[in-house]
Amino acid sequence: MNPLSQHYHQLTGLNQDWLITDVQLDVQQRTLTLPLEFIGDRVSCPECGAACLMKDHAADRRWRRLDAMPFQSILTARVPHCSCEKCGVKTMAVPWADRHSRFTLLF
Ligand SMILES: [Zn+2]
Repeated sequence: MNPLSQHYHQLTGLNQDWLITDVQLDVQQRTLTLPLEFIGDRVSCPECGAACLMKDHAADRRWRRLDAMPFQSILTARVPHCSCEKCGVKTMAVPWADRHSRFTLLF
């Protein structure tokens, strides 16, 4: 991760399972978009908490986070699907937002 991505990684409070792959600043639209990629090696079921195999990734999602100066800030990610023996295929929980929220916890 480059120094700018590392800076935003710390500000966003991400754990080591997530990587900021880019810092996209759109001055005209006043947006700051941070695409995230899951790089962890363990996936857990959001229903029962069991460790499970990663099946694939969900479609790209967006979450509004606290603004950075006058820029509307957005996280985007394709969250892993886990294949739980007990619960079936589920979308993994993310540390920055509730399950169905379009906003980060701090927002
Ligand atoms: Zn489960």
